[in-house]
Amino acid sequence: MTSQKVAIITGGSSGIGRATAVALAKEGVRVVIAARRANESEETLELVKKAGSDGIFVKTDVTREHEVEQLVELAVGKYGRLDYAFNNAGMVEDPTSFVDQTSTVFDNIMNVNVKGVWLSMKYEIPQMLKNGGGAIVNTSSVAGVVALAQVPIYTASKHAVLGLTKSAALEYAKSGIRINAVAPGAIETEMYEQFVGDNKHLRETMNAMHPIGRVGRPEEIANAVVWLLSDKASFVTGHTLLADGGLVSR
Ligand code: NAP
Repeated sequence: MTSQKVAIITGGSSGIGRATAVALAKEGVRVVIAARRANESEETLELVKKAGSDGIFVKTDVTREHEVEQLVELAVGKYGRLDYAFNNAGMVEDPTSFVDQTSTVFDNIMNVNVKGVWLSMKYEIPQMLKNGGGAIVNTSSVAGVVALAQVPIYTASKHAVLGLTKSAALEYAKSGIRINAVAPGAIETEMYEQFVGDNKHLRETMNAMHPIGRVGRPEEIANAVVWLLSDKASFVTGHTLLADGGLVSR
């Protein structure tokens, strides 16, 4: 990776997105943070600067097509190119029995996790083609590979992310754009904290679910994403990289 490269990171205001922004900044990559929360995104940019790089925040709701289109336009307007994208914005429903899930929750989850990833690639890819190629990583989950009970919509959405990733990877394989997915196990972020809350037993269960004996840290996913984006992964496309402490191997 060289200091001239530019990356868009959706969901860069916290958690895995923030850690990846910092990891890319350490590689000299300039980052464009896309999320809805301004203060948290500015905090990410402070960390990016401390890590020795530069970036901007573009307030974006990934479910709104014109905002995603504008995100890519502003990124290219500022830095003149787009090399990498980490399409990572996502949300999960509260664990609920299958039959008690609502249409509203279904639409929200699908809009952010699936439509958001699709829209992001729809506008990123033409820009990458203009500079002769690029690399994209989409955030799936272990729930994209195996099913988790009580979060069926999230499970379906993360399976769909893999479908989008593989279809796009096939179409652009000869055009110099590699497109992969990362599938994390449970990672200590705001989303995870919201999920486990103050339930000590659930926390212990989550640790024990991972053969490695603990849940992951955002930096551990960031390292996987940086590798997938880098030229070191030059023969890797359409792949799902599990970073799950062995969870799916059980
Ligand atoms: P997080 O800290 O809650 O981050 C979620 C990010 O998504 C935030 O930056 C949030 O930003 C952004 N986001 C949500 N809705 C958005 C929207 N409509 N438009 C733009 N941005 C939106 O949790 P995280 O764990 O880092 O989650 C990142 C990704 O990892 C998600 O796709 C999640 O499904 C996936 N994942 C997480 C885990 C885990 O255990 N933590 C495991 C597997 C996969 P704003 O609120 O500022 O918009």
